[in-house]
Amino acid sequence: MNSIDKNIIVISGPSGCGKDTVVKKMLQMDERFILSVSATTRERRPIEKDGVDYIFLTSEDFIQKVSECEFLEYTLYCNNYYGTLKKQIEDKVNAGRVVVLVIEVEGAQNVKKVYPDCLTIFLAPPSLEELERRLRNRNTEDDAKIKQRLFKANEELGFKSSYDYIVENNDVEECAKSIIDIFDSEK
Ligand code: 5GP
Repeated sequence: MNSIDKNIIVISGPSGCGKDTVVKKMLQMDERFILSVSATTRERRPIEKDGVDYIFLTSEDFIQKVSECEFLEYTLYCNNYYGTLKKQIEDKVNAGRVVVLVIEVEGAQNVKKVYPDCLTIFLAPPSLEELERRLRNRNTEDDAKIKQRLFKANEELGFKSSYDYIVENNDVEECAKSIIDIFDSEK
């Protein structure tokens, strides 16, 4: 068995389901975990920091990295590229950490192909109505983009049974704790 697998947790869930908040809580609760910082061509939101939340790249730079085989996986999501850099995983696992990837469903499936024993978790919102409420409340996308993300959310929910576990996000702390418990029980 590849020892990298057991030190990878892949978390997916529709936009607005609270993935980033839950993962942030996990990292605060347990210092074994570290985030894989993805590269993206999406525009940076005002609260985001380059190199911390994402590595923000131009399309040209992203495509250059694709051609140099720097990505473990990448995808086009709502007209922007997102990808996991191999270096993010390898360096962090080699440093003894458990790497958490917060990525969409296609990326999760591709990571599972390379690392079949990694742990995959689908974070489900309590309902689609609640998801829409959260997306609108966070005020980071305009109406057209929210509609596009809700359409995508419906599509993504159809993939939840392909994950090792489905966890419903009703409460951030409980949800983070459930993921840590699942990880420990699987180890
Ligand atoms: P957002 O624009 O809301 O930050 O992210 C949009 C979607 O892209 C989310 O579902 C997020 O999890 C996903 N995503 C972020 N980074 C990656 C990545 O490296 N690879 C893939 N496949 N999806 C990603």
